Amino acid sequence: MLKRLAGVVAVLISAVPSAFALPMTLRVDATEAPRKIYHVELNIPAAPGPVTLFYPKWIPGDHAPSGPVNDLAGLSISAAGRSLIWKRDSVELFAFHIDVPQGASSVDVKLDFLSPAENGANSSVSATSELAIVTWNPLILYPRGLASDDLEITAQLRLPEDWKFGTALPVAKTNGGSVEFKTVSLTTLIDSPVLAGLHFRRIDLSPGAMPAHYLDIAADTEDALNAPAELIGKYRKLVREARELFGATHYGEYHFLLALSDQIAHFGVEHHASSDDRSRENFLTDPISHLVGATLIPHEFVHSWNGKYRRPEGLATRDYEEPMKGDLLWIYEGFTEYLGWVLAARSGLISPESNRQFLALTTANLDNRAGREWRSLADTAIAAQLLYDARNDWESRRRGVDFYDEGLLIWLEADVTIRKQTQGRKSLDDFCRVFYGPPSGPPQVKPYAFESIVEALNSVLPYDWKGFFETRLNRTGTDRAPLGGLEAAGYRLAYVEEPSEAQRATEQIRPGLSVAYSIGLRLNHDGSIIDVLPEFAAARAGIGPGMKLLSVNENRYSADALREAIRNTRTGGPLEFRVANGRSFVTFKLDYHDGEKYPVLRRNAQPPLLDDILKPLIR
Ligand SMILES: [Zn+2]
Repeated sequence: MLKRLAGVVAVLISAVPSAFALPMTLRVDATEAPRKIYHVELNIPAAPGPVTLFYPKWIPGDHAPSGPVNDLAGLSISAAGRSLIWKRDSVELFAFHIDVPQGASSVDVKLDFLSPAENGANSSVSATSELAIVTWNPLILYPRGLASDDLEITAQLRLPEDWKFGTALPVAKTNGGSVEFKTVSLTTLIDSPVLAGLHFRRIDLSPGAMPAHYLDIAADTEDALNAPAELIGKYRKLVREARELFGATHYGEYHFLLALSDQIAHFGVEHHASSDDRSRENFLTDPISHLVGATLIPHEFVHSWNGKYRRPEGLATRDYEEPMKGDLLWIYEGFTEYLGWVLAARSGLISPESNRQFLALTTANLDNRAGREWRSLADTAIAAQLLYDARNDWESRRRGVDFYDEGLLIWLEADVTIRKQTQGRKSLDDFCRVFYGPPSGPPQVKPYAFESIVEALNSVLPYDWKGFFETRLNRTGTDRAPLGGLEAAGYRLAYVEEPSEAQRATEQIRPGLSVAYSIGLRLNHDGSIIDVLPEFAAARAGIGPGMKLLSVNENRYSADALREAIRNTRTGGPLEFRVANGRSFVTFKLDYHDGEKYPVLRRNAQPPLLDDILKPLIR
């Protein structure tokens, strides 16, 4: 497929040497972003004859064909002042065929992007009355078959009045609410979102040092920008710790684009020289809100090295049509999850104690993963493009994007293995400098295969790394997690009667509560059941996802009533649930007598290497 496309490109370019020498121009009117619509005008150099325009489909960072083509509207195409007929390809729905008339040297495209007003699969609310995250891939069509590195584009953006903005995209000039950017490749444009808003603040995170790092914040309120000085200090430390860990940077300057709103979807997307970080309005001002999201920014920052600079071959695609292959996502995402967790602690964004509490929650989830009976971790990575959109019901049997959290456990084991075998002289920190380190420079992609990872690890510690990873990646037939790293690092997973601060904070901030490790239930706060763990009492009694818990031992359902009843099973209390299942009501008696159980980490007899790993590199 790739070879055939390359041939077509060569023919096109040799036939019309001048047509693609000019950059495309893109004018985006974002003044109506608050009412969830963008208006776009594009000029695309094109030679007479059949041309296919392509809407970006496979989106970097999403690892999936998630381009929001259903939200492309108002498409009209003209050339030399004449309206052209466009026809969507009936197999590849992201491709639009046109016939460019003789005498024309470019086509003019108008389109609207219907920015999501609610969250759904492949669509997240990204604009409010006060702010917008402008990502470029939904706003563009480009000539099919050309590599995104080879397409040049000059973009202009009009923002609502008085809005300010931050971006890693180099600015040519600003004129009132209109911004003109320097000409860049299509790759760089799509890699460089813009965060804009009425309430905006820029904080220098590496004052006086090169390269520059900026925390650009847009929020729904002015108050939400008031990050305490101590917290800003920790983000400055994050920059220094990351630099120390990798020994080099691969960007000219870096922008943390932080959007704070309760109206938008909350997640992060990595880029070479910026990250698109989205959290709650009170993320910087409420310690509990920050605690629950403390690894968001470290994770996305690590991706500048692991994911953008060094990228698995299957994810280093030449355009937005070539399918991505996720088989190495346990490195791309799993190792990033590990390093983000490590750097969050090293920079003081989270205390080692809280970090261990979150690790306990993650580990317990993976150590009761019925889906591992049939599905390997490797398969979750290959199927990532499906699993990102999988529902939460029956996640225990299906598995989710486990290559993040289980990747963390496996990379922890790799780190501990190196530290033990070298008597503490080497660690994964050394691997980071070998694989992601010097020389520093502007953004570039160095693709790698699994063998390169093995080779780089062998340069730190000669070991059977191929066997090490393959064993853990391909394991099935067990619901147990790979806990070798945790246990060799001085800790074991245990269960206690009180939920940890980390679990309380999570349940306060995010929907749902978990009594998974006592009776095997995850529920929404209204009692509707999200998932059941197959080997636990609730599932054995016949309860399943989609049912709704109405009462517990004759008391109306509440989280407190449920927890109290579970607690009382220790002293012989019953556990009887009245449950609605569609039109019918059913009573379930659970055979359970062990009280409440919540995961924590406890010290074992091994030296506490975990604590060493989390210590800052810079004193
Ligand atoms: Zn990630």
